[in-house]
Amino acid sequence: MKSHTKVCVIGGGVVGCSVLYHLTKLGWSDVMLIERSELTSGSTWHAAGGFHTLNGDTNMAALQGYTIRLYKELEELTGMSCGLHHVGGVTLADTQERFDMLKAERAKHRYMGLHTEILGPEEIKKVAPITNIDGIIGGLYDPLDGHLDPSGTTHAYAKAARMAGAEIVLHNKVEETNQRPDGSWEIVTEKGMVIAEHLVNAGGLWAREVGAMAGVYLPLHPMEHQYIVTDDIPEIYERGNEHPHVMDPGGESYLRQEGRGLCIGFYEKSCEPWAVDGTPWGFGHELLPDNLDKITESVEFAYQRFPVLATAGVKSVIHGPFTFAPDGNPLVGPVPGLRNYWSACGVMAGFSQGGGVGLTLAQWMIEGEPERDVFAMDVSRFGKWITPGYTLPKVVENYQNRFSVSYPNEELPAARPCQTTPMYDIWDSMGAVFGQQFGLEVPNYFADDGEERYETPSFRRSNAFDATAREVKAVREAVGINEVQNFGKFMVTGADARDWLDRIMAGRIPKPGRLSLTPMLSPKGRLIGDFTISCLSDTEFQLTASYGSQAYHERWFRKHLDGEVSLANISDRRTGFQIAGPNAQAVLASVTRSDVSADTFKFLDVKRMVVGMADCIVQRVSYTGDLGYEIYTDAMSQRHLWHVLWDAGQKHGMRPFGMRAMMSLRLDKFFGSWLSEFSPDYTAAETGMERFISFKKNTDFIGRAAAEAEKAQGAARTLVAFEVDALDADVVAYEPIWINGSVEGFCTSGGYSHFAHKSIALGLIPTEMAKEGLEVEIEILGEMRPARLITTALFDADGARMRG
Ligand SMILES: Cc1cc2nc3c(=O)[nH]c(=O)nc-3n(C[C@H](O)[C@H](O)[C@H](O)COP(=O)(O)OP(=O)(O)OC[C@H]3O[C@@H](n4cnc5c(N)ncnc54)[C@H](O)[C@@H]3O)c2cc1C
Repeated sequence: MKSHTKVCVIGGGVVGCSVLYHLTKLGWSDVMLIERSELTSGSTWHAAGGFHTLNGDTNMAALQGYTIRLYKELEELTGMSCGLHHVGGVTLADTQERFDMLKAERAKHRYMGLHTEILGPEEIKKVAPITNIDGIIGGLYDPLDGHLDPSGTTHAYAKAARMAGAEIVLHNKVEETNQRPDGSWEIVTEKGMVIAEHLVNAGGLWAREVGAMAGVYLPLHPMEHQYIVTDDIPEIYERGNEHPHVMDPGGESYLRQEGRGLCIGFYEKSCEPWAVDGTPWGFGHELLPDNLDKITESVEFAYQRFPVLATAGVKSVIHGPFTFAPDGNPLVGPVPGLRNYWSACGVMAGFSQGGGVGLTLAQWMIEGEPERDVFAMDVSRFGKWITPGYTLPKVVENYQNRFSVSYPNEELPAARPCQTTPMYDIWDSMGAVFGQQFGLEVPNYFADDGEERYETPSFRRSNAFDATAREVKAVREAVGINEVQNFGKFMVTGADARDWLDRIMAGRIPKPGRLSLTPMLSPKGRLIGDFTISCLSDTEFQLTASYGSQAYHERWFRKHLDGEVSLANISDRRTGFQIAGPNAQAVLASVTRSDVSADTFKFLDVKRMVVGMADCIVQRVSYTGDLGYEIYTDAMSQRHLWHVLWDAGQKHGMRPFGMRAMMSLRLDKFFGSWLSEFSPDYTAAETGMERFISFKKNTDFIGRAAAEAEKAQGAARTLVAFEVDALDADVVAYEPIWINGSVEGFCTSGGYSHFAHKSIALGLIPTEMAKEGLEVEIEILGEMRPARLITTALFDADGARMRG
């Protein structure tokens, strides 16, 4: 075993071996993997080996597509068989909602190059003849679905890595990991010590224990999972070709051919977490005792859906554990707070996702950033607030919902409320219907007396529609108030603070008393932040951006911190309110002795002022696109500030408004939002953020060269707005945009403008087509809806109200 290496991967399951292979594929050969037993000794050996592309997150679906296409390449490279069965698969829909979901997925696949098809019941019967189609409305057929040999595939990854110079050490448990002062890692194993520049935790079932060796909590939990292999079934082995996979979400089952019989697995509601207090080190190549009781109902349902099962004998039952993160997506990337420590765990579908995880991590380590937005699986999407007490109920919920329809407006109930602000009870008493962001309870809207305090999950307009309309009206005609807790907030202070910000941010850094909006770019020119920077003094700046991405942003800031600069994440310490609407100025003027008249307190000004008794930072800006103020104060003063503003607001028609209204209001001005329009998938030039880049400033800010190159060349695609002739469903995201009969672009977000009474979509299309009045069609839930490109904002187009 070598004593020094560039990268040490801990864990030889399918994920660790894929990471090792991809590191070599992208050019690092001084890499090694340490496995405590044989390869595949965790979840990997007993997996059913199924793979598919379907995933609610578009980038995850793309990475699953990459994984599946990789297997052929791996076989050719190594001469080893992955035992591939590309038999295709159909996902059934037995409710309209499920069918809507499949049609929405099909629509997204159009521009992703995935050739899925919507089938009717009779077509399903032809493709998958053992299916009883009673009650089936339709299904989604994916020719890429299939299965493989889990062990063969893992060994193929390992062989390919070895061929490119990687070392694999078996039967060697890692017992300690200690960070050295230079940022490298001392890895203490049964066979001696290795010094590694980078450490990758691919410990699978033991990833929690491996993380704890470095003092880090990785939020994942193992669940028990069971599948049954049947004896031979004539209806199967007498067929000329292999039966395709059938996913029956209504019955919580997945089914495929195994030899001359079938194999069927279940995601049962009565599921069981495994090894709650830690995975035993002695666990390995054994299975859990059969537990058919917990799947009785699912099995009975399956007998009706696939009648051939009812008479088939059971050959074997495979019952084993595998891990999930709270939202079911992997935990990948640099672990916040540690140097050179990388996570590649929580992968619940190693054979659909393992290749994509390996590629992403290798790109991140070697090239500094992944090629696409991978926030859905970024380990930084969970903050310091996360504990095993949160993870466990969320993982159980995720397992139970594995096959449930997931709706764009859905708020899942487990582990809530977790994080709350001092306003929680007040909002609650006012009828708030809460959503959750990064663990925090945030009002989505306020129900009136007699209205249900629950938003019905739907792909179409929900029962929140009327309440949202009321709140929008209050903002546009009087004044609305909401909390600014759900912004990520940082203080940057010190003699070098301005210079540092100038380098980190692409935009202009404002003078004292002013604020600016600026994109933050990656070295490749991708959008990794859209910040508001408020200059409180030459050495003191407040930064605000997405609350949910605060750990992602903090990780980036700390990586680049230098000089006399100190950074504090004050997201939960500094809170407050936003007031917006034509009466906002009158409300503010009545509660402070500071002069807030339009001449002295202008648009994009920032000022310290006392509001009531509270010491506040007030800035004149509002994401509603209206005349508005963000009023920040210490969390201890928040309730006082609330009473002051609310009491003063009464005679001005003040109403609270939630996130649903906020997202409708921003559409009136075509404002983009973080992770929809602004994300690492896009550049500043594509999304209109280029106008906030300061090419004049004399600083080599991160991403400058890439942004300049794009400016010179011009962006190939452009973000535009459409007015959509929608029925009862608006654009959510990723719906294809058809122009003259072909898919030329896709939507990034959309919704209903309650102010203009119009359905609006934002989306990217080829720049040369982006002309006022362009007629397009947008495919919403499988229906083509006419839409027209518009360029004039629906509200306050000249900015007179916002700036006045
Ligand atoms: C019954 C069942 C059916 C499944 N079916 C499918 C399916 O059809 N399709 C699909 O995609 N997925 C399926 N899965 C899930 C799949 O098995 C996992 O996604 C995958 O195996 C995860 O791989 P991994 O490499 O992350 O973890 P693991 O396979 O758990 O590998 C982790 C490795 O790390 C090693 N290790 C841990 N700690 C140390 C240490 N301290 N020192 C050295 N080595 C260490 C372990 O020995 C182990 O080999 C199934 C799972 C189960 C239980």
